[in-house]
Amino acid sequence: MSIEQLARDNVRALTPYQSARRLGGKGDVWLNANEYPTAVPFELSQQTLNRYPECQPKAVIENYAAYAGVKPEQVLVSRGADEGIELLVRAFCEPGRDAVLFCPPTYGMYSVSAETIGVECRTVPAKADWQLDLPAIADSLTDVKVVYVCSPNNPTGQIINPQDFRTLLEMTRDKALVVADEAYIEFCPQATLAGWLAEYPNLVILRTLSKAFALAGLRCGFTLANEEVIALLMKVIAPYPLSTPVADIAAQALSAQGIAAMRQRVSQILDERQYLVEALRTIDCVEQVFDSETNYVLARIKASSSVFKSLWDQGIILRDQNKQPSLSGCLRITIGTREESQRVIDALKAETV
Ligand SMILES: *Cc1c(COP(=O)(O)O)cnc(C)c1O
Repeated sequence: MSIEQLARDNVRALTPYQSARRLGGKGDVWLNANEYPTAVPFELSQQTLNRYPECQPKAVIENYAAYAGVKPEQVLVSRGADEGIELLVRAFCEPGRDAVLFCPPTYGMYSVSAETIGVECRTVPAKADWQLDLPAIADSLTDVKVVYVCSPNNPTGQIINPQDFRTLLEMTRDKALVVADEAYIEFCPQATLAGWLAEYPNLVILRTLSKAFALAGLRCGFTLANEEVIALLMKVIAPYPLSTPVADIAAQALSAQGIAAMRQRVSQILDERQYLVEALRTIDCVEQVFDSETNYVLARIKASSSVFKSLWDQGIILRDQNKQPSLSGCLRITIGTREESQRVIDALKAETV
């Protein structure tokens, strides 16, 4: 028997998540992973690397709870929001029996996590305006334990109607968790559902330090939920999910000063987004620029594959969304520095298609 044949069937069939990093490229303008464009410096204050870290570092949990306006018992910290996505499948879905549901076009890790564990992925395409198709979701909930809804949605950039979230939370009450993925919520903080936890025992919220907090390389994310859900996730999380240096830096990033600096960055990104969107709307090969509440914009481009390749060859790396349902011809562009936006604008202007 070959080693390949020893692996689980679903793992052999699996396509790993095509992360921006994995896709490679030799660029000098990286606008494909929704990262903050420049590095924020930190210094380590903990020198106790001989000791195991706390599983749920107290300072990180307390700071995040205060920032999010929830109780510390309602917060779980993990190795990025991606680990939160997976913990929810592991704790709530029986492989071969239960299912997760999500609404493409959306973030790719929901399917990767479920498929790795051997849990069915059920998809209900978003409506033409990328809002939830609630009647179709209602018809698809048999055996569904977790519904992932990204808001604002990656890669389309819009907020999911709060009233639709309420309808979904009611229709799944006592049956399934509704996971609001708020990875980009700092760019539209008024849209958070964190204030609804008291009303809905089945609501879960995912957050991250990777986007507005400019710490994608730190690998630190949060799950907000009622105590009962957090207690179940605590059963399946690794004993030491965060290293001491990660917890150290996360606590600093979540200090009053760290949060003020994050808000500064958000306001600068929003200015840059306006600049990029207005410029894109004047370019010939750009058919449509979709409104965004995030640090990226989605645009429909004429001959998008060749334009994508042409920019790639010039060292400008964007994210091709052409393969996602309803996104033919669409490229996603992260908001970078003014210089980076200008490189994109100039390169697109030079495309004559
Ligand atoms: C970036 C992203 C994540 C992952 O966040 P990490 O904390 O870096 O793992 C989760 N969900 C969405 C929608 C994202 O865009």
